[in-house]
Amino acid sequence: MSNFKDLFETYNWDETLASIYSKTEDDVLRALSIEKRSLEDFKALISPAAMPFLEEMAQLSSQLTKKRFGNTMQMYAPMYLSNECQNICTYCGFSMTNKIPRRTLTDSEIIREAEFLKAKGYDHILLVTGEANQTVGVSYLNNAIKLIRNMFANISIEVQPLKQNEYELLSENGLYAVLVYQETYHRDEYKKHHPKGKKSNFDFRLDTPDRLGKAGVHKIGLGALFGLEDWRADSFFTALHLKYLQKTYWKTKYSISFPRLRPFSGGLEPKVAMEDADLVQLICAYRLMDEDLELSISTREQKIFRDNIVNLGITSMSAESKTNPGGYVVEPQSLEQFEISDERTTEEITAMLKEKGLEVVWKDWETFSL
Ligand code: SF4
Repeated sequence: MSNFKDLFETYNWDETLASIYSKTEDDVLRALSIEKRSLEDFKALISPAAMPFLEEMAQLSSQLTKKRFGNTMQMYAPMYLSNECQNICTYCGFSMTNKIPRRTLTDSEIIREAEFLKAKGYDHILLVTGEANQTVGVSYLNNAIKLIRNMFANISIEVQPLKQNEYELLSENGLYAVLVYQETYHRDEYKKHHPKGKKSNFDFRLDTPDRLGKAGVHKIGLGALFGLEDWRADSFFTALHLKYLQKTYWKTKYSISFPRLRPFSGGLEPKVAMEDADLVQLICAYRLMDEDLELSISTREQKIFRDNIVNLGITSMSAESKTNPGGYVVEPQSLEQFEISDERTTEEITAMLKEKGLEVVWKDWETFSL
């Protein structure tokens, strides 16, 4: 296979869904009893048949996570640089047709926001923008990375999909990781939720992790936006994507995130609900399939859920996040991309983690030394 799309085209959504829902208790017991788990085992673990075994899955997941990562939790903070966007996405407050004031941070504003997060203790920063080539294209991102690279050990981005040579350029200047979620692997539903703009090109987005792998970016973050389509099928395709990438770009590190639809200005109701127990099941299934995988949870999730999940497989989390450009100090009142659920401060989150026996890790990687 020369790219994931070729592999993806050999699968059918409905057949995949039927296959997941046809898994039996025996399939689940088999998946629980072995050490090396395949994608078929992953299907069994995310199937409804695995729900009665959730406690067992959670215990196994917790043990495997402790064995590989110790009692640690990596902290990161998102830093929104711009809410300008030329796409229409039905689930996002920054969507082009939403009548909100648009804002892109200047150099000095970027530094002010970065200084705030640095003072809080953060060393891993995730830069986020909408997709607006004129204002927040590759040169803006390159400049932003250069502005703050001396302040942080690790800089990631969650921005529009770029070309391979653009990722290479950003990597040379200090980029560590790129998060790019397919949102949904259901081609027709994807089209409905992305009717206009560059993001409406399903294949270009699907091909992005391949371009990242070829560009040699250190870490690739995958995920689907839960609520758009059946979470089980979308998770299977995410896992398929992950397995393909791990085999093809074996030097790269990978992470999985679990965004669920959140309310925002003019918001969309989830088509398919994903309950808390479903999300626990999914997180444990990923851990049982892959002991080394970074699993990340954001402040989209509620306090009680986050408190309960930190010992079950999650290895990285954000705290005190703002989802608006300049949200920390420059312009706290600007409109958010979505509402966060867990509004506790960084200090409150780190205290909770310590109470649960976890060591808070601010930095685990130095991208470059100057
Ligand atoms: S999800 Fe991203 S691309 Fe879509 S409207 Fe929001 S910021 Fe723009």
